[in-house]
Amino acid sequence: MTDDTIAAIATPVGMGGIGIIKISGGKALDIATRVFRPRNAAPPLKSHFLYYGEIFDPHKKCAVDEVLLSFMAKPRSYTREDVVEINCHGGYLALQETLALILKAGARLAEPGEFTKRAFLSGRIDLAQAEAVADLIESKTSLSLLHTSSQLKGSLSREISDLKDMLVDILSALEASIDFPEEDLTFAPSSQLTAQTDRLLSRIETLLCSYDEGKLYREGASTIIAGKPNSGKSCLFNALLEEERAIVTPVPGTTRDFIEEVIAVKGIPLKIIDTAGLRDPSDSIEEEGVRRTREKLDQADLVLLVIDSSVELDDRDRSLFSDVSGKRVLVVENKNDLPGKIPRDTVQGWFPESRAVSISALYRKGIEELKEAIFSSLTAEVNSLSSPLLISNLRHKRALENTLESIQRAREGLQKKIPPEFTASDFQAALHSLGEITGQTTTEDILNQIFSRFCIGK
Ligand code: GDP
Repeated sequence: MTDDTIAAIATPVGMGGIGIIKISGGKALDIATRVFRPRNAAPPLKSHFLYYGEIFDPHKKCAVDEVLLSFMAKPRSYTREDVVEINCHGGYLALQETLALILKAGARLAEPGEFTKRAFLSGRIDLAQAEAVADLIESKTSLSLLHTSSQLKGSLSREISDLKDMLVDILSALEASIDFPEEDLTFAPSSQLTAQTDRLLSRIETLLCSYDEGKLYREGASTIIAGKPNSGKSCLFNALLEEERAIVTPVPGTTRDFIEEVIAVKGIPLKIIDTAGLRDPSDSIEEEGVRRTREKLDQADLVLLVIDSSVELDDRDRSLFSDVSGKRVLVVENKNDLPGKIPRDTVQGWFPESRAVSISALYRKGIEELKEAIFSSLTAEVNSLSSPLLISNLRHKRALENTLESIQRAREGLQKKIPPEFTASDFQAALHSLGEITGQTTTEDILNQIFSRFCIGK
């Protein structure tokens, strides 16, 4: 697979200032030289220099685009192969035609993630780092960007490598005692091995505990704004969006009934769903809408229950209260700029577990407190906040769980003094599971699955 030279457009389709084509492989320079005519320079092109010139179509005998080209000779490149990058003008046609010429000159169109896969196969980065590349592209808040870029730099890989070293230490002591049974105690007193194993277990547990937090930062949470008509849901939705909207792109899937947007709440990407488009179920279409609201309510991680505190509670409020009972609810007492009509603690009586925040959505009062409350509510069950190292990938979590299980079995074996061969094989299994995270023991199928998540050109 890595014998051929691949090429792809690396920038998104559409109009833009520039668009970049990447070529990687043994023939990258040769192919580039066939389609590129440098101005003010003569071949051979030097590595890590930028050349100005044009892409020339030899068949039509005309220039396709004016470009900047850079050549990065192996191994000092992203893939550790020869790499050429061509900065074209960002229109769709110029890029397509340039790519077509490159393919005609002998390159093959790259598959999704193939450049990164080559970086992994050549050993430049490991699998956890390769996955961080995809996560980095998809990062929704600056905090998740921080975590993924630290994973890309190898923070998780170093921890896994430490854990592996600890495992190998234990294993070699155990295996020495298998090879030289009569000297058992000199090589590895079992109390020492158990203590080492405990240290290993506790580090893996710490890492596993960070998953909920990591997942929250990576995938975010969803909250639905519910309340009777005119309670101020749309106003609240806009107040929450006001400062944050520009940070992240809107989530696709906005429908006639629901408006969804993503904001960042203290680093957590929060999808907020406004149900304001829905009215009373007076006809069948509205009934369908109410059914779908219930469905959304069920899926949401948090319900912002908006109450108009300037009017008395009515049946519509109470019916909503019973709909959301059992959910994680944050009571939002809106319109606190007007005289209050709801005695204190009345609503709280319905939701003894949850906090109430008093706001004025219209006058943007109490919005910061509300965000604080949203954050506390979402992180209430998260184990250790802001651990230095977070795992956020389900695949890593599974691999760590398998590692933990094997080590726990091995520990039991050590204590029961079963033949060391069995204990050693449990430690071997742990080593294997750990290797899946960084890619040493990952099967081809899983690798393909991981890299197919990437966009073409990455
Ligand atoms: P929704 O039907 O729940 O989405 O409610 P809207 O957001 O459309 O608000 C209904 C009405 O209440 C509008 O006239 C708003 O201007 C008003 N409103 C919303 N929030 C406040 C508030 O905090 N104070 C006051 N005085 N009026 C508000």
